[in-house]
Order: sequence, then structure tokens, then C-alpha cells
Amino acid sequence: MHEEVNKLFQFKLCDSCLGRQFAKLWHGMTNEERGRKIREEHGLKEIPPEECWLCEGIMGEMDKFASLVVDALSDYEFNTFLVGCRVDEDIIEREERIATQYSESIKREINREVGKKVYSFIEKPVEFVRPDIVAIIDTSYDTVELDVRPVFIYGRYRKLVRGLPQTKWYCRKCHGKGCEYCNFKGKMYEESVEEIIAAEPLRIFQAKEEEFHGAGREDIDVRMLGNGRPFILELKEPRKRNVDIEKVEKAINEFAAGKVEVVSLRYASRNEIEMLKSAKYPKTYRVVVGFEEKGKINEAVNALRSSIIEQRTPRRVAHRRADKVRRRKVIDIRVEEMKENEATLVIKAESGTYIKELITGDEGRTVPSLSHLAGVDMEVKMLDVIEIGD
Ligand SMILES: [Zn+2]
Ligand SMILES: [Zn+2]
Repeated sequence: MHEEVNKLFQFKLCDSCLGRQFAKLWHGMTNEERGRKIREEHGLKEIPPEECWLCEGIMGEMDKFASLVVDALSDYEFNTFLVGCRVDEDIIEREERIATQYSESIKREINREVGKKVYSFIEKPVEFVRPDIVAIIDTSYDTVELDVRPVFIYGRYRKLVRGLPQTKWYCRKCHGKGCEYCNFKGKMYEESVEEIIAAEPLRIFQAKEEEFHGAGREDIDVRMLGNGRPFILELKEPRKRNVDIEKVEKAINEFAAGKVEVVSLRYASRNEIEMLKSAKYPKTYRVVVGFEEKGKINEAVNALRSSIIEQRTPRRVAHRRADKVRRRKVIDIRVEEMKENEATLVIKAESGTYIKELITGDEGRTVPSLSHLAGVDMEVKMLDVIEIGD
């Protein structure tokens, strides 16, 4: 160790930079205190940070960095934070030249020392695993960049009207810029479940943007009723995050004014999105089927109950889905109401079943189908999802 100390004395080092090269040797003191101890023991004169060969003054600027961080954080509500930093490449190279086996990195010291000072101002804890905000100091430019963790909200939505897509649907010609085709709106539909649900949370959380994650989606002309479809709303760069979730639920439902309704809102985490996306819920539908004559519809319903059907990708989605044959189970099917030219059916089927095609047969691409088994042509007049899950 004496050799190492003597080697280090060839360089003009401030107390922090000297002490940092022995950080793992004595505990219970800062690098600055460690450096002073070593220097005084060897009767050397103090080097102010501005004259330090290694840090060129950075280690004398902890107070300034801390106030830059406090200032940057002042616009945000958060419960935990972490400080990170970027340091000039030249400093890192010089650090590598003199490092001993007891050294810690300059970045680590800056993060810790600034973190302590920030904590003494704001009295909120440093968190290493999933902080609400990471403040990254650029020591060369005296700037602070914030990495703000999104807020995730889980809920279930009901879509009470037809003609509403689940997510924003950008114009197929201009892809959102606005053109004559889309009446300079940039999208194909005036509104969507996503936009209706997100409007109030964006305002309340003062978030920059949002992303909508649904557990599957229904067609535009299909309503989503019953217990609702699970979703997670991701709010990016929120300035607020400690909001009473019941107030959020109420605000959404007032704004959505009978078009959409949300229930069971709660805070969620990012890893729930994956679970939501991969969950395979069976779904129950109510479908109104139209026909000129009913044929053997009752026998057809009985034959389909508990059967496995084969569905080749429907023509209506073939342009965006791979053409393949899927096997799906019709868990239950029953007639709710029968009239001269239409029947109301309730169908429970495995996740991923194409219900419209189960009725019509899609020109032989779904086998068997209600139409084929009944021996008559059929059309789907109305379709609602009435339950998701068992
Ligand atoms: Zn230094
Ligand atoms: Zn357009």
C-alpha cells in the first residue's frame, strides 16, 4: 500500500480523488476524509479540486450538482429517486491510469454524494431497484436529464356503443400527419376507446403521452359489455403520481358520457402488461343472427355445443394476418330468443374464436358453421361481448 500511495503522490490529487483510490480499505468515512487523513499522515499540502489532475474541479461542485437536481425535480411528484451521472471520457481514462485495487469509480462517488445532499433537501429516499425518477447529471455541461417512470393503471372497460375502434387508428394515407383523405384529422375515426379513457388521466397526471394495452380487442362494430375487457393504461412522464384512483375512475366515466365505462381501476406495474397480453380468456358473446328461413337451426346449435371447429383466417382480416387454420372450442352455445327471421344466441368460446365466421361459415373457411349445419344462409346482425373470463 505504501508503494501505491507514493505512486499517487506523483499526481496532484484533491482529497476526494486521493481518498477514492483507497475507498475499500477503511470504512465509515467519506473519500474526502480518507484523502485528508492520508495526506496529513504524509505531511503533504492540500490540493484544491480546481487544481486536481484527475477531476479538474468536479469534486468541489457537489453542492451545485445537488441544487441542479433539486431544481429539476421540483416540477415532479415522486416518492423515490436515484442520482446518476455522465463524466467526461478523459477523466475516466485518467482514473483508470491511477486506480488501485481499493478504488471506487468517480461516478459512484458523485452519485452517492449528490444523492445524500439531495436527500437532505427533499427528504425522500434513494431507491436503487425501481425509483420513480432517475436524475442524470452531465458533469461537463452542468445539465440534468430526468428519466421519469411511467404510471400504469389497470382496469376493465365496457364499450357501450358500436362504431368505436379500441385504439387510435391513424389515417392509412398520411399516417397521422393530416391530409384531404382524413379531413386533416390524421385518423380514420373521430375517437376511440383509448382516447376516451386516456383524456382525463393525461390531464390529471400531467403526463406527456399515453399507451393503451388491451387484453385483446373487439371489432369496431362490436360492443363490449358485462364485466368489461381488462386493459392497462400507461402514462408517460407524469408530473403527478399520488392520485386517488377512485377520483380518476370517476373523471373518466364522466368524460366518457355513456360511450365507454371503466371499472375496477387500480395502480399496476409494467410486468402486468405482458401477462395481460398473453392471457387466454374464454369469451361469451350475444349474437343476433338473421335468415330467410331458420332451417335446422336448433339441431345445428346442439351439434356445435362442446365441439371443436376449424377456422381458416377470415377473408376480412386475411390482409393483415397469416393465413392458417386454427382449431377452437365452442364451449357453450344456446338459443336465447327465436323469431321468424332472426335468433339471439349466447355463445361461449375459446380465446381467438372468430364468431362472425362461426355463424356464416365464411364461404367454407370455417368448418363446421351454424349456417352450414342448419342448411341455410345466415348473417350476423349484431354482436356483443358480454363476458370475458370464466
Ligand atoms: Zn479531484
Ligand atoms: Zn390523412
